[in-house]
Amino acid sequence: MHRRLLYLAMVGAMVFQNSQGIIRQDKPLEPPPRIVSNLVVNNSTDYINVVEKNEEEGVRDLRQLAENSQLEESWVYLPLETLWVEIGKTSFPLEIIVKNKEIIGYQERVENYTGIVFKLMQAHWTLVHYHIHIKKSGVVKEGIDYIVDGLKISDSSLLEIENLVSSATALPSALDIRNMVVHSDAYYTLNSRGQISHKVVSGYGVTEYTVTEEGRRFFSGRDVPFVDKYTEGLYSKAEGLKLPSLRTFGSLEGTISWIHQLKGALSDENIQVTFHPYAK
Ligand SMILES: [Zn+2]
Repeated sequence: MHRRLLYLAMVGAMVFQNSQGIIRQDKPLEPPPRIVSNLVVNNSTDYINVVEKNEEEGVRDLRQLAENSQLEESWVYLPLETLWVEIGKTSFPLEIIVKNKEIIGYQERVENYTGIVFKLMQAHWTLVHYHIHIKKSGVVKEGIDYIVDGLKISDSSLLEIENLVSSATALPSALDIRNMVVHSDAYYTLNSRGQISHKVVSGYGVTEYTVTEEGRRFFSGRDVPFVDKYTEGLYSKAEGLKLPSLRTFGSLEGTISWIHQLKGALSDENIQVTFHPYAK
């Protein structure tokens, strides 16, 4: 209890400090924290949610959200404090990315409170940046209709197509990897002996994506366009993988093995992606 109050006082102090800054404004830059008992998607900018739970319990909540929520959300998990701090400001619904009349992907976004993330990075030795990728959404359905329509696929393959499309939610997006590299570089500049990690929770499992030791040196001080280009390169490697037959996606095992292949393609000497499917 003490720890919780102390922590809230700290976040409160940060918010206070901020609102006393040179730029005077009616509303503080960051909203006050509010203790809640479970991790939920919160699209209000009046407060941020703080949850006291260990990592395993928190991931259990996130798995539920990945299955049922219509919007993304993000948090920082502090292992030493066993606290989850919401860092997602506003979530935007999914959108299909179409290029030359072809679906090249779909993305959803959650905009983070960068000030809160930065302060958490400054104040903590170990932190894990978490966000969810939702499994079922209107746009995934739209995407499926689009593919079915374009390929004149029979209804009997709908499940396979749905699994094929959703399998990508198990992986960090190109933007996620880019942000992770930029965050990690900023974090290690602040705290070279600290530990930062990024994880995405989907309906399939937990996927961790980090810079390797070599990657820390490689990306050190690089600008965002460089990281963007690097990430694009990784993604084109993944896109170059030969798609298995649709039948593969008729089972969870088949879909999981495809996710393992994709994850492998997104890893190299500088970036490591590891995928942990749910045990059941
Ligand atoms: Zn993401």
